[in-house]
Amino acid sequence: MTSPRPTLYRDAALADPTGPSLRTGVSLLVDAGHVVWTRPSTDEGDLPPNVHVIDAGGSTIVPGMVDAHSHVTLPGGSHWIDRGADPPEELLDVAEHNGDLLGRAGVRWARDVGAPLAVDPRDGRRRALSLRVRERWQADPNRPRIRVAGTWIGHSGVLTGGLAIEADEGPALLKAASTQLDDGADFLKLYLDGPKKEEAPWSTEDVRAVVELAHGRGAKVTAHSGFLVGARVGIDAGVDSLEHGFELDSDAVAQMARQGTFLVSTLAIFRSWASFAQTTTLPRFVTDEGKERIGHRRERAIESVQLAYRAGVRIATGTDFGGGSLRANHLAWEVEALVEAGLKPWEALASATVRGGDLLGETTAGRIFEGGPADFFLVHGDPLTDPTALWRVWRVAWLP
Ligand SMILES: [Zn+2]
Repeated sequence: MTSPRPTLYRDAALADPTGPSLRTGVSLLVDAGHVVWTRPSTDEGDLPPNVHVIDAGGSTIVPGMVDAHSHVTLPGGSHWIDRGADPPEELLDVAEHNGDLLGRAGVRWARDVGAPLAVDPRDGRRRALSLRVRERWQADPNRPRIRVAGTWIGHSGVLTGGLAIEADEGPALLKAASTQLDDGADFLKLYLDGPKKEEAPWSTEDVRAVVELAHGRGAKVTAHSGFLVGARVGIDAGVDSLEHGFELDSDAVAQMARQGTFLVSTLAIFRSWASFAQTTTLPRFVTDEGKERIGHRRERAIESVQLAYRAGVRIATGTDFGGGSLRANHLAWEVEALVEAGLKPWEALASATVRGGDLLGETTAGRIFEGGPADFFLVHGDPLTDPTALWRVWRVAWLP
């Protein structure tokens, strides 16, 4: 919300996730949706005559977060896959609910990495629902700012329910990519798990052709990567980022670091599935065999993030809400998971803020600076040393 009056947040702490220490005793002046200045509360200087003062004592100002792996049209939960087949009008309502949840959790930006296809009643074309959500939200300053990949592009026999575009060889893959960009996708999402998990769905050359096409049109390419064989193809082909990266090795992360390939971690998925052992009756979560399988994948995924971190790979992060089982207001859970994987808490917060902005190519996202947008929220506690502080949201500057 752009308040008609300038607003002063007085005597807060400020969490800048480019370093480990809070600044305390900070006053921050907002006018017309922008940060005018930050000054010591003991030395605010002249204030605008009609200023609205908020006593922010005991709270911490945090940059609005970036959920770099989200699915805004889907609700998540233990039946997340089934929900993808719900009627489009219902999914558009889900998106509105998710928009509320994201904002209240301090998430300013959502990078949507896949939405179901549906016929758009305005022109009868079948395209990703997320494109309609982006249009709806563009003009509303209370809504998350989003960038969308359109729909998933996958090999046949991988993604269920006819929600995605299927392409089995080079020319079809290139055509699918081109169609997504024509529809208005901001970037492309390839699904680099194949029908057989020990084989990548496409050749490096085929994926490289997509990367060249997209880059030529000013768009980036990201790739879902559950297994090493697909990750290798994506990295060799020069994709801009890998999503999940659940099975990376030291060669893969070294090459990612050299090339500047981002990793978008989604480790909290495994925390969510572990919780389903208590809260659901679904055999794959509650049986000993299911729990063991999930435990193995979780350990391997954590190891992958550790390898990437030590190699200096740029790590952005996301919940995978909707496309996985988390909900839209769970990004704090992922920051906690990154800390468990070995990132310092302030580095994990950087992954959920500035690094996500870097990945999007949005220079203001996840940052607080004079003249920049007033995209911050206030929590209790120090999120630079304790990720659980991110659950304790008190206020969100861009919301009423
Ligand atoms: Zn996903």
